[in-house]
Amino acid sequence: MLRVHDLTRRFGRLTALDRVSFEVAEATIHGLIGPNGSGKTTFFNLATGFLQPNAGKVFWGDREVTGLAPHHISRLGIARTFQNTSNFANLTLRDNLVVASRNRVQTSVLHRMLHLGSARSEEADHGRTADAILERFGIGHLAHTIAADLPGGTQKILGVAIALATGPRLLMLDEPLAGLNPAEKVQLMDILRSIRAEGLTLLLIEHDMKAIMQACDRITVLSYGTLLAEGSPAEISRDPATIKAYLGT
Ligand code: ADP
Repeated sequence: MLRVHDLTRRFGRLTALDRVSFEVAEATIHGLIGPNGSGKTTFFNLATGFLQPNAGKVFWGDREVTGLAPHHISRLGIARTFQNTSNFANLTLRDNLVVASRNRVQTSVLHRMLHLGSARSEEADHGRTADAILERFGIGHLAHTIAADLPGGTQKILGVAIALATGPRLLMLDEPLAGLNPAEKVQLMDILRSIRAEGLTLLLIEHDMKAIMQACDRITVLSYGTLLAEGSPAEISRDPATIKAYLGT
């Protein structure tokens, strides 16, 4: 679904990403891990058009999307969350989701996932989408709370819900579990697994090894901008280079 070939990005004399190639298969949860500074966020920025590569290519299906602007990439069905939450702080949760739904790129995947049929009007459809996602994420009781009044953990869950409401086929999440309490982590990982079960694809940057090992189908390990290892959680957890560079630290 998403494939990068020899992707390279330099900042001055530093090579933040050095000829990295891998692919993310459809309807999987793919983990991107590595120590701080290994190039994970740079990879997200290159794949979503926020940065241009110095060399290498990005493909979305059969189509080359290298160098397309972020709004163009998001219209193809790639949604992204940032480490810091991005919502409209002065709107309620429900209104945040209605706005995201109005900006959605397509409806079919979302409708199938949320078991929604046709609505009376487009605006009614956005409302129903918002309500269904609130329920799905276990935050329906907070529908009319102003986003800024939420605890940090719930704001992160809202960030993922907003990304989902835009109707993507690939969700790229930057440390979705950071700042969540153990119960919220379990809740969010359950949601992500159920999203995958319905055919969406997820690419996660995450430092919580337990969650990564439990939830991912495949894992790519970066170290100093190069691809150190790739494989199933079982393969990665016994890969000597990964243990040395990351898990052992
Ligand atoms: P990670 O997400 O794995 O922590 P990053 O992709 O943020 O790593 O960073 C990789 C390397 O690139 C780091 O050494 C970082 O300091 C450097 N870097 C990232 N963005 C920039 C930038 N805009 N300008 C200069 N150096 C950068």
